[in-house]
Amino acid sequence: MTTHTLPLFVLGHGADPHSERGVDCPGDLPPASDPALVERARRAKAALGDRLFVLGHHYQRDEVIQFADVTGDSFKLAREAAARPEAEYIVFCGVHFMAESADILTSDAQKVVLPDLAAGCSMADMATFDQVEECWEALQDAGVADQVVPITYMNSSADIKAFCGRNGGAVCTSSNARRALEWAFSQGEKVLFLPDQHLGRNTAVLEMGLDLDDCVVYNPHRPNGGLTDQQLRDAKMILWRGHCSVHGRFTAESVDDVRQRVPGVNVLVHPECRHEVVLKADHVGSTEYIIRKLAEAPSGSSWAVGTELNLVKRLAGEFPDKNVTFLDRTVCYCSTMNRIDLPHLVWALESLAAGQLVNQITVDPDTTHWAKVALDRMLALP
Ligand code: SF4
Repeated sequence: MTTHTLPLFVLGHGADPHSERGVDCPGDLPPASDPALVERARRAKAALGDRLFVLGHHYQRDEVIQFADVTGDSFKLAREAAARPEAEYIVFCGVHFMAESADILTSDAQKVVLPDLAAGCSMADMATFDQVEECWEALQDAGVADQVVPITYMNSSADIKAFCGRNGGAVCTSSNARRALEWAFSQGEKVLFLPDQHLGRNTAVLEMGLDLDDCVVYNPHRPNGGLTDQQLRDAKMILWRGHCSVHGRFTAESVDDVRQRVPGVNVLVHPECRHEVVLKADHVGSTEYIIRKLAEAPSGSSWAVGTELNLVKRLAGEFPDKNVTFLDRTVCYCSTMNRIDLPHLVWALESLAAGQLVNQITVDPDTTHWAKVALDRMLALP
């Protein structure tokens, strides 16, 4: 289900049946303290057999990840689901935009289930369809829309992916953002980058050699994005004013602080971090890059990792011969990812095993078509 207006709800409260964001999870959930939960999840999963495929995003809690048939980033997971046509139910342990992408890429016979409908993404919610349409009108008024190629990060709603598909643009991930930008600049003179300003800026400036002055930030809450027509005409990168609330918390001081605390530490961060953090880090890359970098690191080396805490803790456990620490002193989970817990997973699996389809995420055919156009352009990147 898709809507063109996505109001921000306090998570877990309110009801928005059109966008499915922020609504309470229906049904009876077992209490989190129930010692039989693991066994119940195992039994329900076994009862469903090959009809079920459970996807687990890297940022999920361990209690949930243990039931994932495959783990990965959002794009890898959506493709894995599409490669399992025999699986009637795809239970996505992740957030709403990821489940939408899975529905877009899987067949009509496959049903995608999000165990808690309140598992949204604050970054994806920062760019609504109406706001992006308004921005496009501002670009038309400035006389530059026909030179602009819209690129959206995977972390966006299906509506925004479809917008990019309709307007000659594409989707990108944090692994291929540079290739997507290179392609976009071969198609037009400017890029509108949605919704994560940091990934857009870091890629344009650090990987493509653009100047910070080539970038402007479009603020959807201000008339004309807070920019003059001349600024829109002069800019090469028009960055949407969105960010990840988890990665946006790391500061340049976090890097200075960890360097003082841990001698010889290597600072490894995700490109969703702010530009000044990435500038101070030793290595920057996608989630898959972070995992690979730590796997390849020599025994005894020290690493401060700037990404979601569930993943950092898991990696610290997987590589006990290396000193892996969280970049910031304060605890920083993705609160919406954490909404998928064992009680919600058990509830979803048991409902499916009992023949009741719950919390299905669907994207309408027109949005699916155009979002797929944008995804296919990404897949065709050189
Ligand atoms: S970590 Fe950031 S981008 Fe990822 S789901 Fe959470 S809020 Fe969204």
